[in-house]
This record gives sequence, structure tokens and C-alpha cells, in this order.
Amino acid sequence: MGIFSSRCPACGQTPLFEGFLSLPKSCSECHFNYSQIDTGDGPAVFVIMLAGLLVTVAALYVELRWQPAYIIHFAIWLPIGFALPMLMLRPAKAWLIHSQYRHNAHEGRLHKGNVDKQNEGK
Ligand SMILES: [Zn+2]
Repeated sequence: MGIFSSRCPACGQTPLFEGFLSLPKSCSECHFNYSQIDTGDGPAVFVIMLAGLLVTVAALYVELRWQPAYIIHFAIWLPIGFALPMLMLRPAKAWLIHSQYRHNAHEGRLHKGNVDKQNEGK
């Protein structure tokens, strides 16, 4: 089970996504609750940064190497600039979901022990 796998991070048996990017409420096989998983805008940020870098570097290379007309640049880089992030988004979200599951990541919260230690000095 790879970290980019579109399978349940707990059991690896059922599909991770219900649609393009939405998650089911829970795994139908192992009943893992997906509501505790929240990747937020993380996958989109990674994908936009990486795809933007790749497309920009490729466009600059093509411009410096062959200097095509601007309409050629639009014809090449506009579809690629749209398709590349769409292709990368699902594996990126799967990667973050698997990472959250593997490292037991969740929202930050104060433990009672930490609150008591903070109040000792007062
Ligand atoms: Zn499962």
C-alpha cells in the first residue's frame, strides 16, 4: 500500500475517494471514521506551487530555446497548466491523508498536564 494510494489508509481495501476528491463518512470495510481526517487546503497549495514551478520552468525553457509565437505558448501551457494540477491533486490529497493517519495527526489541543505546568509559574 503506497503512500499515494487511493485506498483506505487503515485497511487498504476500499477506495479512499467518493467522487473526485470527496471522502466517504467511513470505510465500508474497517469502519475507519474519515471525519477525523482534514487535509484542508494543503494538497491544493502543494500542487499549485509544484505545478506552477514546473510549467513556468518549461515555458521559460521553450521560450529561450525556440522562441515560438505567444499563441503557441497559450496553446501549450494553458491546457497543461490546467491539466497538471488536476492530475496531481488526487495523489497529493491521498498522500496527506495517509500521512495524517500514519502520524496520528489531528488539531492541536491543550492537555490538562500542560495547562497545569503553565500555571505552576504563576
Ligand atoms: Zn478501511
